Amino acid sequence: MAWRCSAPSNAALVDNLCRSGLIRDAAARDAFLAVDRADYAPARPYDDCPQLIGHGATISAPHMHAAAVEHLLPRLRAAAADVRVLDVGSGSGYLTHLLAELAGPRALVVGLEHVPALRALGEANMRKSVTGAALLNSGRVRFRVGDGRRGHPGDGGAWDVIHVGAAAREVHTPLLAQLRAPGCLFIPVGDDWGDQHVWRIDKDVEGRVERTRLFGVRYVALTDPPE
Ligand code: SAH
Repeated sequence: MAWRCSAPSNAALVDNLCRSGLIRDAAARDAFLAVDRADYAPARPYDDCPQLIGHGATISAPHMHAAAVEHLLPRLRAAAADVRVLDVGSGSGYLTHLLAELAGPRALVVGLEHVPALRALGEANMRKSVTGAALLNSGRVRFRVGDGRRGHPGDGGAWDVIHVGAAAREVHTPLLAQLRAPGCLFIPVGDDWGDQHVWRIDKDVEGRVERTRLFGVRYVALTDPPE
């Protein structure tokens, strides 16, 4: 996957992501324009590479966020207005905000972190913008603490869309069990820092599961919290 979309501003970054074909959908483009990465990345927010955010975590590269959105958007669109979205490993909170922009005014979007300080960081970052603060105040976006390998049975517990932002050793059973039928799961799977690939897992209305291997990545591991 190309890392060549760096730019001096959020608008120019989004323009580069569109020109590279990484963002194809007009609504996705609008959402990327509406959420400024400067609220979420402590330095060089418009570089097309991951940035450290503390506690061993990173905000993923813009091209990875674009890929996640492009793969999850069809299910977000096809779901009912009260679509339910879980963002495991919410980290900076950037993608949680982006997914909330795309999911519409009746959606519930939950960002899940196993590091309490990162749960708080995601929420604080989102409060920096008027739109982010409004989403939080409405209760449509919530940041929670928990182990993403167990999914998130709280807040109603059944999800139309699950995004996992850290590399899992396997497709953990609770994630699949908590995925609605139909539903879509975007999850990097592999060794801690070795052979990792993103999988898109689609569950159809009958509950049948189809797994598609998408591309190689290097993500922070979905693991126990740091000491
Ligand atoms: N989507 C985030 C990615 C953050 S990096 C962003 O772009 O900002 C991956 C995150 O997964 C880290 O914040 C890390 O703390 C979190 N994480 C790792 N293992 C986890 C687990 N078992 N449960 C929940 N979160 C986890």
